[in-house]
Amino acid sequence: MKPSEKDRLRRALEQRRETLVHELDRDASRVRENLDDQAVPDLSRDDAELQDIEAARRRLDDGSYGLCTDCGVEIGLERLHAEPEAARCIDCQRRHEKTYRA
Ligand SMILES: [Zn+2]
Repeated sequence: MKPSEKDRLRRALEQRRETLVHELDRDASRVRENLDDQAVPDLSRDDAELQDIEAARRRLDDGSYGLCTDCGVEIGLERLHAEPEAARCIDCQRRHEKTYRA
């Protein structure tokens, strides 16, 4: 991956992270105030996404970013631009979802 691509994806991750931190704040106050039933699932989904983003930032730093954590192939740039926190190639992601969400 070109360094310029990496910078672009790092910025995308940082922006997404900032948005999520705000969303988490808002989710947490909705949970505290019991505003709606969707607040708890939103909070855990946003929290899970934030964990994925933090993991992706660590991979950027240790140089393993962009490689599938399961099989080691390069994750397509198109997929990374759509989902910069992606840890798996599309095939492994499908297999993972089948295994863990069925
Ligand atoms: Zn893979």
